[in-house]
Amino acid sequence: SQHNPTLTWTQYTKTLEEQTRKNVDITMKLRHALAADQLTLYYQPQVDLASGRIVSTEALLRWQHPEIGFIPPDQFIPLAEQSQLIGPIGDWVIRQACRDIRRWHDAGIPVTPVSINLSLIQFQLGSVPDTVQKALSDYNIAPEWLTLEITESVFEQHCQALQLDLKALTAMGVRLSLDDFGTGYSSLGHLKDYFFDEIKIDKSFIRQLDDNPYRQAIVKAVIIIAQAIGADVVAEGLESTSQIAIVRQLGCSKGQGYYYSRPVPEPRWRQLLIEQMPL
Ligand code: C2E
Ligand code: CA
Ligand code: CA
Ligand code: CA
Repeated sequence: SQHNPTLTWTQYTKTLEEQTRKNVDITMKLRHALAADQLTLYYQPQVDLASGRIVSTEALLRWQHPEIGFIPPDQFIPLAEQSQLIGPIGDWVIRQACRDIRRWHDAGIPVTPVSINLSLIQFQLGSVPDTVQKALSDYNIAPEWLTLEITESVFEQHCQALQLDLKALTAMGVRLSLDDFGTGYSSLGHLKDYFFDEIKIDKSFIRQLDDNPYRQAIVKAVIIIAQAIGADVVAEGLESTSQIAIVRQLGCSKGQGYYYSRPVPEPRWRQLLIEQMPL
């Protein structure tokens, strides 16, 4: 509605003002969300496309406010970043994922590696490797169980801490994944400077893959680059059998998307793992 050309200036500024007020309000509520136990991690399976078996999972943050209800991460993560609340929230995500991995281990569930999302501000605030190291040791988790997803856009700004931290994290043995690949500019530049274990093809490329040789060629190129640098490729946003068939044919062996499962609460995720246990 902000782009509606028929809006008058007063209406427009009013909308902006309303938006700002709403954002301030959400930020205030977010400040209490952690302490009030309103944040949880949902898990979305990542699947081996040939066998259909779950091989790993992405943890996705969910915020359930008692009065407003569910607030999507696309709305509150940017506010968490602006207010630096992403610091404590991001630390909580790292620790919660490790806590969950430990609980699955202890329950005898065949655990898969867990991917979590990190934002640039967390690196600028300055304690990502320490927080990861401490969480791994507190919950006695081997580093290879944890994959850190970093969206390509983080490289649009120069950040010294990011460069050092990514190297420290690689040395620590956690896996690094380059998220939303292809959506930023200079997609290839940072591939030569950092080591990524995995590249995720953004869902915007997966949409309309059918009958679109142009998009297919781009996805194919990404897969070839990934293979050349020894990285795994994950296709995200898989919603249909035809998309799955196409990405498989292009050489992608791993994917996630609503076709397989939406992100689910932890108890349901646990159940999915148990269901595929060999008898
Ligand atoms: P993302 O990292 O690119 O995560 C993938 C998003 O695509 C998730 O949205 C997921 O639910 C959604 N998705 C999965 N399969 C499909 C599909 O088949 N079709 C479609 N249309 N969507 C699918 P979600 O959970 O709403 O998260 C949105 C974004 O919020 C994430 O995008 C990520 O950038 C951010 N986010 C989520 N959790 C965290 C977190 O713990 N920390 C940080 N920093 N960011 C997070
Ligand atoms: Ca992600
Ligand atoms: Ca993504
Ligand atoms: Ca994204």
